[in-house]
Amino acid sequence: MTRDGVFEAPGRINLIGEHTDYNDGFVLPIALPHVVRVTAARRDDGVLRLSSRQAHGVAEVRVADLVPGAVTGWAAYVAGVVWALREEGHPIGGFGLLVDGRVPLGAGLSSSAALESATALAVTELSGVGLDRRELARIAQRAENEFVGMPCGIMDQSASLLARERHALLLDTRSMETEHIPFDLAPAGLALLVVDTKAPHRLVDGEYAARRRDCHRAAELLGVPALRDLTGAEQDLPDRLARRVRHVVTENERVARVADLLRAGRVREIGPALTESHVSLREDYEVTVPELDVAVEALLAAGAAGARMTGGGFGGCVIALAAEADVEACAAAVRAAFAGRGFGEPECWTAVAAAGARRAGDVPAR
Ligand code: ADP
Ligand code: MG
Repeated sequence: MTRDGVFEAPGRINLIGEHTDYNDGFVLPIALPHVVRVTAARRDDGVLRLSSRQAHGVAEVRVADLVPGAVTGWAAYVAGVVWALREEGHPIGGFGLLVDGRVPLGAGLSSSAALESATALAVTELSGVGLDRRELARIAQRAENEFVGMPCGIMDQSASLLARERHALLLDTRSMETEHIPFDLAPAGLALLVVDTKAPHRLVDGEYAARRRDCHRAAELLGVPALRDLTGAEQDLPDRLARRVRHVVTENERVARVADLLRAGRVREIGPALTESHVSLREDYEVTVPELDVAVEALLAAGAAGARMTGGGFGGCVIALAAEADVEACAAAVRAAFAGRGFGEPECWTAVAAAGARRAGDVPAR
């Protein structure tokens, strides 16, 4: 067992299945080529020493003193993983961890889960703790839920740890069953355009928690363990809850539809499901903001086959499926629409499905 190493874990884009994970439903993300890299070295003094090229200052804490609240800010995502592992009885001692991330922070591309996943892989491998990747994902989620205090589902950590190159990850978040479905757009002459709207994340944490509460309440009223257990039938609920339920039910159906099309090699045909997902998130789930809606509208007008917000909403990114030949025109249309509305300049790039977390190679002997 080596004492040090470099580990990297990717950010993600969710193709479809938004706000379904905390309802025990289905998601279909891909991992991005953008990674968070963690250079890790075991220490014998029981101290966790954390620094990041993307953040100021160094955090130092004894692993024995880790409790939620003991570390705050960016370092909590890292310390939280060590805390969660120790809570579950795994012998993780001191570590020096240096973070260098290429996943944009707070853009909805899940830099947080990438950071947690790279940390989880690093400290378990270097401690000889053999946990499978589903367990690592659950521990990373627990760190974010209980140590950072963000009540996220398990999609982001699963995508970062389980995804495969040129494949989308179909995940049943209840059973944690996975299927790797080929997702390779270039041979079909298609591309996945990502528009980072740069819209400031407003109200994210509070609204996210509020949606979770709505779903929990609706499931309670309907007498089901989770909204995942409902089928399409109309539900007798107060209007707001009925719309939340409708989003979750129809979104799970859309994931199944897209997965079927991808399995059949009919990727060109997934566009309408993407757009329907956006409309559902805008009208029923109410997690979009004008920047997201304007981007989707401009992309569709410029010829995209489908477009939707991706991630939790309230800012962040939009994705569009478009013919390779139309990508430039789509990006130009979004830029023009944003300029016309007085929004900040968006950033546009194309994404491919990359590999999940891995060891990047041993650190040369010092
Ligand atoms: P997202 O996961 O969509 O990027 P979040 O708000 O969930 O947005 O997580 C972003 C937070 O994750 C940052 O504010 C920071 O605390 C932490 N983080 C992510 N990447 C890094 C990094 N390279 N260095 C330090 N902190 C990071
Ligand atoms: Mg996050």
